[in-house]
Amino acid sequence: MDPIEHVERKLADLEAHSLTRRRRIADTRCTPLQVVDGRAMLAFCSNDYLGLAAHPRVVEALRAGAQLYGAGSGASHLISGHSRAHAILEERLADLAAPHLPEARALYFSTGYMANLAVLTALGADNDAVIFSEALNHASLIDGARLARAAVTVYPHGDVAALEAQLAASTAATKIVATDAVFSMDGKLAPLPQLLALCERHGAWLFVDDAHGFGVLGAQGRGALEHFGLRSPNIVYVGTLGKAAGVGGAFIAAHASVIELLVQRARPYIYTTAAPPALAHALLTSLDIITGEEGAGLRSHLELLVAQLDAELRLARWQRVVSSTPIQPIVIGPNDEALRIAAALYARGLWVPAIRPPTVPNGTARLRVTLSAAHTHDEVAQLATALNELEAM
Ligand SMILES: *Cc1c(COP(=O)(O)O)cnc(C)c1O
Repeated sequence: MDPIEHVERKLADLEAHSLTRRRRIADTRCTPLQVVDGRAMLAFCSNDYLGLAAHPRVVEALRAGAQLYGAGSGASHLISGHSRAHAILEERLADLAAPHLPEARALYFSTGYMANLAVLTALGADNDAVIFSEALNHASLIDGARLARAAVTVYPHGDVAALEAQLAASTAATKIVATDAVFSMDGKLAPLPQLLALCERHGAWLFVDDAHGFGVLGAQGRGALEHFGLRSPNIVYVGTLGKAAGVGGAFIAAHASVIELLVQRARPYIYTTAAPPALAHALLTSLDIITGEEGAGLRSHLELLVAQLDAELRLARWQRVVSSTPIQPIVIGPNDEALRIAAALYARGLWVPAIRPPTVPNGTARLRVTLSAAHTHDEVAQLATALNELEAM
């Protein structure tokens, strides 16, 4: 077959299953009120949970970072791209992680996707490593396990007993339990205290991907480990910095020896150009906000918005996922139906993404509503009213 024709058949197949994805062009900053493809919209899509992506102080810090350090880093971290800005950020992140990880060190990455690949390839590369992977894990953890070429055992979602049986039956020298802390498509928390207890009993690593918890959970926004009050040398933690922190990149925090192994061996760290130092510089301001009084205020406003949406939605047919986080999904089921509802919301000026397989299991296509501290009570009320009306139609 002609190669282009082959590709076009694949695309036609996606279209036939209502699986084609389309990008919309945002003309404005990442804020609730946006101009999208030239049209004013109220957005409930982003992971900018604290509204820091367009925060004036963060934007100003990015500008100042560019003045200080220029536009790009010029090389990978191990050649010449590791700037003072990266080093200061890593010290700051290690301080934040210190209550939860003995002898903590932190390593800054360009993206969370790469940080997850790095952890799993560096720790899971041994011939006798087994990665125990939660069924609803993010694609980056699944890809990291593939790249590590380690044996992978998937445990059912939230099933601590099943994981315990798998760990007990394993004779592997290196065991890694990998889980999202907040499941990205349903907003629920993993049972981290129980998972940690299991890992400590079985000599396993607990690898926590806190992409949606860092900045949002815990009194100081330190994330899921702070929320649950966990501390252990068995934990390897990834927090991302492009969601609640509003800028970009990610970090791994772990015992200093683990971080040193990553610097020496993790190919997704070594073979890529260091992120622009200005981003690291801007992140210092994000971290000030997250851990300070302003962050606490943003988180309490966000909690009120989550409670408001919960109180105002009156859905009979569509299923809500019970979630205390700003990720508030509404499961519609069929792909075409989820697309139809998202289009109806869009026609009303409300931008809510429809999430379809393979991002979520087949038959559970959903509206993924995300709230941000930048939303107002009035905006959340508009969304609840529209959803209630559309469901009743
Ligand atoms: C977004 C996300 C990532 C990837 O982080 P990026 O910095 O966007 O590459 C990893 N894990 C989870 C659970 C995520 O939601």
